[in-house]
Amino acid sequence: MTALNHTHAPDARSWVASANAVGTDFPIQNLPFAIFKRRGSAEAMRGGIAIGDQVLDLQALASSGCLAGHALAHSAAEAASHSTLNALMALGPTAWSALRHAVFDLLASGASAEVQEQVQACLIPQADVEYGLPAHIGDYTDFYTSIYHATNVGKLFRPDNPLLPNYCWVPIGYHGRSSSVQVSGQPIHRPRGQVMAAGQTVPQLAPCARLDWELELGVFMGPGNAPGRAIPLDAAPDHVFGMCLLNDWSARDIQAWEYQPLGPFLSKNFGTSISPWVVTMEALAPYHCAMERPDGKQDDVDYLRSENNRNRGALDIQLRIGLTSDTMRAASQPVHWVCQTSYRHAYWTLAQMVAHHTVNGCNLQPGDLLGTGTLSGPTLDQAGALLELTQGGKVPLTLPDGQTRTFLQDGDEVTLQGWCEKPGAARIGFGECQARVLPATPTQT
Ligand code: CA
Repeated sequence: MTALNHTHAPDARSWVASANAVGTDFPIQNLPFAIFKRRGSAEAMRGGIAIGDQVLDLQALASSGCLAGHALAHSAAEAASHSTLNALMALGPTAWSALRHAVFDLLASGASAEVQEQVQACLIPQADVEYGLPAHIGDYTDFYTSIYHATNVGKLFRPDNPLLPNYCWVPIGYHGRSSSVQVSGQPIHRPRGQVMAAGQTVPQLAPCARLDWELELGVFMGPGNAPGRAIPLDAAPDHVFGMCLLNDWSARDIQAWEYQPLGPFLSKNFGTSISPWVVTMEALAPYHCAMERPDGKQDDVDYLRSENNRNRGALDIQLRIGLTSDTMRAASQPVHWVCQTSYRHAYWTLAQMVAHHTVNGCNLQPGDLLGTGTLSGPTLDQAGALLELTQGGKVPLTLPDGQTRTFLQDGDEVTLQGWCEKPGAARIGFGECQARVLPATPTQT
């Protein structure tokens, strides 16, 4: 696990003034990665690093001469100059850290006027760019690491048996669909599917009437493992590049009818939204904390158990989710936040997800995406899905425009935010993951 170093110093400042603004997601201690180009341009997509309200163009930086004398950082910047970050993700933590430290030095207050002039030429305002997916995602796996979410949902689907007995032993997950992962800002069409209405005996094909979100974090894999070779628990953090915000859109009516016996299928595979910015594990280093389990369980199976994981395997990442209706946006009303929670409540840690995924010899690859599962916390106001917040659609939420919601309506826009803050460390953020719900497209004839 990454040790703290001078790039985490809370009093570090940048000559890029917006990076020093109170409450910015992107101070010099963060330096997350995205894929971008100037909006509407014919430019090629390439890697960038966020600093304040700017993007540092890594392709431009690699050819600028600013990284002369930093061979490893230079090769990492070149690896980040392509239309995906897979090549950078494959390099591993030594190269990622070399690039972070070199970029930190270039952007820190005290850099020479000559350096500032050269680096300034590589900065583009975030307001002028559009983003692509951070990686070519070969495989996407969604876990189920919040015991609170598993229990809340279990009560709705199986009132007599909410938490299945395997939950506290196996990090539950399923293989999702990578081709429908999309970057923040792209809308999502309401899915159609087969649903069995209450009291009926024959299912119908219909637009989803119970469209939901799931508040999750995404994990981008770095160097993978050869088939047949597991990644041990304490080595897992070195195989993780970073984390992003993730909204696992879910069609609850389709899910309820299809999920047994093999789990979700069409209720989940129509779309998953992620934030453009990927926050590195080195940036997150100050925010590791001890695991917190409501049952106090410590006797995990050996490959899922270590002192390091127990004492520092969790991450205190604050998360919130909210929405605007089309009438709220027309009235310039802000996002109505309906849930705030923290990743620290997860029952299974990020390292346990990786160790479990590979224990059978399954090979992970650079750019693979893991979802944490809906990160509901211990109380209902920390529930990461509408299904939980509205108690299965029985208790509607009231929006500031007077409308009510049990599930999402066409035109609703869903926003996720994430950030870390604590005394003695710099506040860092994930930016946003946002997408609007469009009506179902007509069925093809
Ligand atoms: Ca999910």
